[in-house]
Amino acid sequence: MHAQLLTRSKLFCVCATAGEDLPNTRTCPVCLGHPGALPVLNPEAARMAVRAGTAFGGALHHTSRFARKHYFYPDLPKGYQITQYERPFCTGGALRFRLPDGTDGHAAFERIHLEEDAGKLLHDGSRVRADYNRSGIPLLEIVTQPVLASPEAAVAFLQELRRVLMYLGISDGSMERASFRCDANVSLRDNSGTPGQRTEIKNLNSFRHIEHALHWEISRQRELHAAGMDVQPVTLLWDEAGKAGRIMRGKESAADYHYLDDPDLPEMSIHDEEMEIAAGSLPELPLIRAARFVAAFGLTKYDADVLTGARLVADYFEEILASFPDGIRLSMATAAAHWVGGEVLAMMKEQASEVIPVPASHLALLLEHVAAGSISRTASKQVFDRMWRSGEHPDHVIAALDLRQISDADSLRTLAGQILKAHPAQVQAYRDGKKGLLGFFMQKILVLSQGKADPLMSSSILSALLESERQEPGESAGRRSDPEEEIPGRGGVRP
Ligand SMILES: [Zn+2]
Repeated sequence: MHAQLLTRSKLFCVCATAGEDLPNTRTCPVCLGHPGALPVLNPEAARMAVRAGTAFGGALHHTSRFARKHYFYPDLPKGYQITQYERPFCTGGALRFRLPDGTDGHAAFERIHLEEDAGKLLHDGSRVRADYNRSGIPLLEIVTQPVLASPEAAVAFLQELRRVLMYLGISDGSMERASFRCDANVSLRDNSGTPGQRTEIKNLNSFRHIEHALHWEISRQRELHAAGMDVQPVTLLWDEAGKAGRIMRGKESAADYHYLDDPDLPEMSIHDEEMEIAAGSLPELPLIRAARFVAAFGLTKYDADVLTGARLVADYFEEILASFPDGIRLSMATAAAHWVGGEVLAMMKEQASEVIPVPASHLALLLEHVAAGSISRTASKQVFDRMWRSGEHPDHVIAALDLRQISDADSLRTLAGQILKAHPAQVQAYRDGKKGLLGFFMQKILVLSQGKADPLMSSSILSALLESERQEPGESAGRRSDPEEEIPGRGGVRP
């Protein structure tokens, strides 16, 4: 896996990693490979790498070495890529993740190292043009051991890896921009368990494509075995539209690259203090946080997973909880989880927003209003929508939109009476046994009240009126006391 590190400048020069998007505007003699230009390591990239190595529990080495990996390609003007080879800064490490069947997975790593990205070729009809803005951007490369036993396990692993790198604040995890991508290696074990020849599918940057490509390659290798043919060591490109892989070239062996220690760069040294800082500043990782949400707040595993999908969202949820008064915090946790996992995530998606503009304390207040029954859940969505867009306080929005819930029994009984009177045939049908018609009357009362009728109270009042044989619908509405007695704990004026 390759993850682009979120540094502001490139790995060995001061060119910006983001910003101006015109081709070849973020380049300099170092990242263009001009003769005599000397690389200087960006310490921030090293710090981020150490953070990752620490989080994955790898063995961090006090000294490591950059090497040149030689190959010719027009996106690589130096003729070699600077990477780490014999002496990476981190060996080992592992990631725990959840397999699709809900059991725990554990993927052990071979190594983690730093390297620079290459440029990009733009194919334009018969012309090919080169853009070197990406040359020299820092990448973290993570190599697992061959421990993932199915395409589904591979995807589950990658999803968790991406989530952890984002939690660590060292990757934006964007697969569209290819800042998180993988080269997937596939080999089939024979009956004795010995792994066969492996092949590599390059540059996959969508979970769906990864899953399709792996299934395809596994079938291809199975067919070769069945036909008594050998699997060749090849590198493939995946074509999602055609749902097929294409063999690019025979797979290079390490010897093909003529690795050599880069004489322009000294050893990379990681001091004890840097390791201590990294260890001391690790955030709570998502699986651990999700388990805490279940244990501490009584959330379901599903809700906890949704909330911990992104650190920003999990932080926001906890901020909301902190905004509730002590006495109600725990009882509001599930409602808050559903709001954040539902409305907030939906809005972020709809607006393609990476921030949540509604202060957590405002949303907490809105949720308290819903819990107290002063506005309906339906109306609360309208309020939230406006809070998101205008930044207004929930109380202002509720007042401005006149959304206070109708929860006094007299008003609701009057509304219910009007509705029953207007639909005598349905009333008769209900009394003849079609109890499902209650939904029809509920719908009418919500429309008539413009969504403001308290649904629970309305439903009780409607049932009570409908069950009452002694009265014609609509008559003396509001004069009976029995409906109210079915509504424990609700407000309203007793007749
Ligand atoms: Zn540069």
